[in-house]
Amino acid sequence: MTIISNNINKIHPIPAFSDNYIWALVDADQKHACVVDPGDPKPVIDYLESNQLELTDIFITHHHPDHVGGLKTLISKYAPTVYGPEPSGIKGIDIFLHEGDSANLFGHEFSVLEVPGHTLDHIAYYCDEMDPPALFCGDTLFAAGCGRLFEGTPAMMHKSLSKLSSLKSSTSVYCTHEYTMANLKFAQAADSLNSILLSRIEEERAKREQGVPTLPSSLQMELETNPFLRCDQPALTESASNRLGKPLDDEIEVFAAIRNWKDNF
Ligand code: ZN
Ligand code: FE
Repeated sequence: MTIISNNINKIHPIPAFSDNYIWALVDADQKHACVVDPGDPKPVIDYLESNQLELTDIFITHHHPDHVGGLKTLISKYAPTVYGPEPSGIKGIDIFLHEGDSANLFGHEFSVLEVPGHTLDHIAYYCDEMDPPALFCGDTLFAAGCGRLFEGTPAMMHKSLSKLSSLKSSTSVYCTHEYTMANLKFAQAADSLNSILLSRIEEERAKREQGVPTLPSSLQMELETNPFLRCDQPALTESASNRLGKPLDDEIEVFAAIRNWKDNF
């Protein structure tokens, strides 16, 4: 999984807990690394030590323990620069980021998008100086799914997902959970005639059978198969309307209906 960039050698998934990935970005000299959402310090330290890397930076997307739980240990061991959102008071953040801010990592600009919905403090990191561009979106956008609405409203999450949808379609989407097969099962129920979705299910199943991550995804694939990005499509409007037993004509209502359906799927 080599990234074509002068400054970043690779983006590597470190598995954590049962289904998290802690993404490690390794610089061109393969000496320095940044990790995104280190919920558990142990697998991060193991990865850094076995590859002789120094941890220089951490990106945080939101306050949930499976995304910030490793901060204390990693800060005391490596003293990295920690970037993250401000509102929830996460301990250990050096640089608070807001919409429109950017973080410089190994010479690349990562722009910050506020994407509330899963939590109110959720931010995403986007870099279009790589080819393909890279998006670190935490628990907002998943492969074939989206995060649960723990703190925000459907309107908020729909707006956040629309913001991500408008990025370059070639973007690689680095989500933090391997939820893809369960998400695809739901997607098939909600969007059953989507032929691209059906072929995606076979491709992703083959990856899981080989123990390979389904991530990163691509934004193009999400636009074609992720029901939560397709609330403007007649097929989703129809199945959401059927689910509620009344006609829906508003995208946010469709989004709310399919999010609620997935919660109970
Ligand atoms: Zn979360
Ligand atoms: Fe999470």
